[in-house]
Amino acid sequence: MNNNRKIIFATKNLGKLKEVRNIIGEKEIELISLNEFNNVGEIVEDGNSFEENAVIKAKHVYHLLGLPVIADDSGLVVEQLGGEPGIYSARYAGENATDEDNNKKLISKLSFFPKPHRAKFVCSAVYIDGKGIVKAQGEILGQILHEPKGTNGFGYDPLFLPDGYDKTTAELDMEEKNKISHRSKAFKSLFKMILKGE
Ligand code: IMP
Repeated sequence: MNNNRKIIFATKNLGKLKEVRNIIGEKEIELISLNEFNNVGEIVEDGNSFEENAVIKAKHVYHLLGLPVIADDSGLVVEQLGGEPGIYSARYAGENATDEDNNKKLISKLSFFPKPHRAKFVCSAVYIDGKGIVKAQGEILGQILHEPKGTNGFGYDPLFLPDGYDKTTAELDMEEKNKISHRSKAFKSLFKMILKGE
């Protein structure tokens, strides 16, 4: 019999699901994505910060399904652009923008600024189970390049050179990225707190 603790992950992104399953590597937790449910419609992420958006997603799903939920919100914060694209990272170049469109917009905006283009990925992760809310954050610092390199990962990975590395996060494999990523830092500390019962 499977006695794993079941937790819903408020995402339909299978890449993210795989990444977070790999991060927790916890045998006693079974993560179930929203693809397993057909009554969860689009969630309007209208918060003003990564944390607010993660809480909005988790609360929405908890109220619909009544099961413990984790949710995250993440994005790229670029110093010279006053924190852009920030919470708009997924739709920087428009509502239906592809990763490539977003990357092109970022390079074009940064072409007016001197290098290095300091930046960070930020992830806010939350857990809600009806008894309370647990929150964690993770960051990874680096800089933005003008030319995309690598084909792994997603989003801005081909342009992001983490500090101390000569490869972009799109040139790292998932295990390597998960050792240093914003999402891995946020979820490792979130799961530590959940398992301790905080
Ligand atoms: P969300 O957390 O699913 O809302 O993702 C926000 C957006 O931030 C993504 O669509 C990407 O553009 C960007 N992003 C978040 N995490 C990463 C990452 O690990 N690599 C590259 N881009 C990321």
